[in-house]
Amino acid sequence: TSDAAARAASFDIRPSDAPLPDAEREALLADPKFGTVFSDHMARVTWTAGTGWADHRVEKYGPLQMDPASAVLHYAQEIFEGLKAYRHADGSVWTFRPEANAARFARSARRLALPELPEQDFLGAITALVRADAAWVPSGAEASLYLRPFMYGSEAFLGVRPSLEAEFLVIASPVGPYFAGGVKPVSIWVSQDMHRAGAGGTGDAKCGGNYAASLKPQIEAYEHGFEQVLFLDASTNTAIEELGGMNVFFVRADGSVETPELSGSILEGVTRMSIIQLLEDRGHEVVERRILLTEVQEGLADGSIVEAFACGTAAVVTPIGRLAGAEFDATISGGGPGELTLSIRDELTGIQTGRVADPHGWMTRL
Ligand code: PMP
Repeated sequence: TSDAAARAASFDIRPSDAPLPDAEREALLADPKFGTVFSDHMARVTWTAGTGWADHRVEKYGPLQMDPASAVLHYAQEIFEGLKAYRHADGSVWTFRPEANAARFARSARRLALPELPEQDFLGAITALVRADAAWVPSGAEASLYLRPFMYGSEAFLGVRPSLEAEFLVIASPVGPYFAGGVKPVSIWVSQDMHRAGAGGTGDAKCGGNYAASLKPQIEAYEHGFEQVLFLDASTNTAIEELGGMNVFFVRADGSVETPELSGSILEGVTRMSIIQLLEDRGHEVVERRILLTEVQEGLADGSIVEAFACGTAAVVTPIGRLAGAEFDATISGGGPGELTLSIRDELTGIQTGRVADPHGWMTRL
């Protein structure tokens, strides 16, 4: 905790004059609706090309003032991150591998020609905000405080060039357990005519534009009666990439596990890299390679693929029960959650919530 205090120390705390009364906050925490309710404060750092990062502060959560000519509103110069703060049984508050999110944020910034935020400022902002709003970290099983760091080009200028001003903020939203009624498999529609990212594009950056591009295919999936979209590579339309907000894994009958390689158009999930490690710790062979949709169809048909799951910060690990596209429709693991899927989910959520030991030192106390 002294580390945490040091990280947070450069942030000036300007307490809200109107924090939510305790009883109202407790009522919200008892049944949070993801992404609709926000804590009392936000962390903020302002950048200008002349002075660099300055004015590190935690201030009252509220609307931003923005010039209508701000770069982000016209050219989508924006990046974000997503991670969670967990309350352990002894009341202490922790995050999972925040330095991996800081590193990915810096990579995203480079790709979007935004300024790189130093890791200590990224971690300091999270720490200072969570300390200011500690009462907002829920304590139920698998409940957490979702943290959303983001940065945008704020310069008022309509020319197409990197903004000379940027704002970095972190906001926080309490979330309940993703699967309140037990882990439930999702159905996935393979988008074979629209892509989220192309070779040399921004697919491996966490920028808002990628998500704007995923919305229309997501609507198409709903219209076909499916919950999520699986994207294929834009160059050949044959290789599996990822879902709109999750990476994917396939479990073979021989115990080996496969996941699409980091092609440049896939986001490198922190959950993905952690699951690869935990599977290898258990002795599974994990293969990161280019995986064709036809190979998965064949594997499901001949029984050599026995489980599939998606993973990301929000749902941690979600079993895939059905995979379909314009010309095929396959049920996986009999439509129920697979055994390895559930046990890796249990191990990872156990580490995050303090239920099981943290073998790799992934947890950071705030
Ligand atoms: N892919 C995409 C496109 C995502 O938005 C996310 C969520 N950040 C992921 C994968 C999973 O990443 P993580 O495990 O770091 O949440």
